[in-house]
Amino acid sequence: MEDTMKAAILVGPHKLDVREVPRPQITEPGDVLLKVEKTAICGTDLHPYEGRIELESDVILGHEFLGTVVQTGSAVQQFEEGDRAVASCVVHCGHCRACRRGDPARCAGSRIFGLGIALGGLDGGQAEYVVVPNADIVMRKLPDEIRSSDEDLLFAGDIMTTGYEAVRRAIRPGDAVAVVGAGPVGLCAVMAAVALGAEKVIVVDMVPERLAEAAGFGAIPVNAAETDPYDAVLDLTNWVGADVVVDAVGHESALATACKIVAAGGTISIPGVYLEDSMELPYGDLWLRGVKLVNGVANIVNYMDEVIALTEAGRLAPARMISHRMPLSEAAAAYELFEQRQATKILLDPTQ
Ligand SMILES: [Zn+2]
Ligand SMILES: [Zn+2]
Repeated sequence: MEDTMKAAILVGPHKLDVREVPRPQITEPGDVLLKVEKTAICGTDLHPYEGRIELESDVILGHEFLGTVVQTGSAVQQFEEGDRAVASCVVHCGHCRACRRGDPARCAGSRIFGLGIALGGLDGGQAEYVVVPNADIVMRKLPDEIRSSDEDLLFAGDIMTTGYEAVRRAIRPGDAVAVVGAGPVGLCAVMAAVALGAEKVIVVDMVPERLAEAAGFGAIPVNAAETDPYDAVLDLTNWVGADVVVDAVGHESALATACKIVAAGGTISIPGVYLEDSMELPYGDLWLRGVKLVNGVANIVNYMDEVIALTEAGRLAPARMISHRMPLSEAAAAYELFEQRQATKILLDPTQ
């Protein structure tokens, strides 16, 4: 094996360099060294790329990847050389109070691949190799034989499972589900709602192409630039509103829409990221109508198994969101495309 590898390295805002670097080594007993076969660019990667997350040093980007195990640490029990696996984008400690209570997203020791020191300093997977710590906890084995679903399974470590959890923690079979925002996580929420037995799925956005994509996944599109989403959702739900509203945007205006279109007794589930200290909410209305809010960082590892099983069964097909497949060597151009919103989802091939 070569002792260097190709990697997409962020050296400063908007400055991406694909170059040869030393191949990473396992250092902890729970580590696994993975040879990356597929990796994708996620919206979250734009935070460091655009300089919103300050990196103290160059960092290898990327937290959506799958590949083959090439080496295991001495304490790893679930994996051996040659296993194919997908990793959660978040690495948890597995031992703290939050982890023991089945709520690893609240683990104070959480680390995320490819987002720099502040988020744990783990190098990412937009490279030929990546080290996955606590592999027994955060990785899942993939079937050897079904490589055709790799492009779908890739997303089990992040956006597919984020969208899935957003619906899964709120839905009852037969519910009307509305998804605000038809970006990648919104589209995954649409797929999850269909797979989990929603009576109908409505998607609210303002971009016709995104609405068309969501319609392709089985949602009824509502263009908020043309129609009042409140009127449209009431029309579609016999004046009840949506039992579950997923805010997949993370913006005050999206939450305002969610508050309007949710049914009495319904749930607003928020995978969208909010960093504001405070925001206006129609709280009296939500209180009177008994609306529940569920939010926070996704518990990826809790739902990965369900997502992998449903993907293998053909019930979730997130690979349909992939708009571009590019060599890792062209990562700089790929990030430019992605930043300009000219691509829904870009796959990078580390072998090229
Ligand atoms: Zn992500
Ligand atoms: Zn923990």
